[in-house]
Amino acid sequence: MITSEQRMRHFKDGETITIEPWRAKAFPVIKDLMVDRSAFDRIIQIGGYVSVNTGGGTDANAIPIQKDDAERSMDAAACIGCGACVAACKNASAMLFVGAKVAQFARLPQGRVEREKRARSMIAQMDAEGFGNCTNQYECSAVCPKEISLDVIATLNREYFRSAVTKR
Ligand code: SF4
Repeated sequence: MITSEQRMRHFKDGETITIEPWRAKAFPVIKDLMVDRSAFDRIIQIGGYVSVNTGGGTDANAIPIQKDDAERSMDAAACIGCGACVAACKNASAMLFVGAKVAQFARLPQGRVEREKRARSMIAQMDAEGFGNCTNQYECSAVCPKEISLDVIATLNREYFRSAVTKR
């Protein structure tokens, strides 16, 4: 995968670089290159957290977690909420971002308690903010500076389906 940093290195001296603000209805331009990404904050506020009592550090370490689950969760948690995925997508979809936020909890016991409510409410907020639908263009993951995998979108879809059938 070519990162955005590597892409910049492909430019040769004298070439023209066009710089523009993130373009998405849900990211209104404030001024010049500055956009308002508070839509992401509102998606996090509606479900991107764990509100159950998880005990202290000792309790957390007493819960065995498979290495693969821990690593995948950490990979998803690397998302910095930059919005590059939205800007690169022709539909201005936020599925990679929301997928990362849901996936980081979906594999951990602490996050599973509220998983149905989380997936449902975060997707509803994503739609309310005006982000587009995912049509498998894959631009999001290609430009992501944290190399968030497309797998998180599959996880998000699974979590949403699960929430639809359990209705908790
Ligand atoms: S581009 Fe990557 S790091 Fe940035 S918001 Fe999207 S998923 Fe997160």
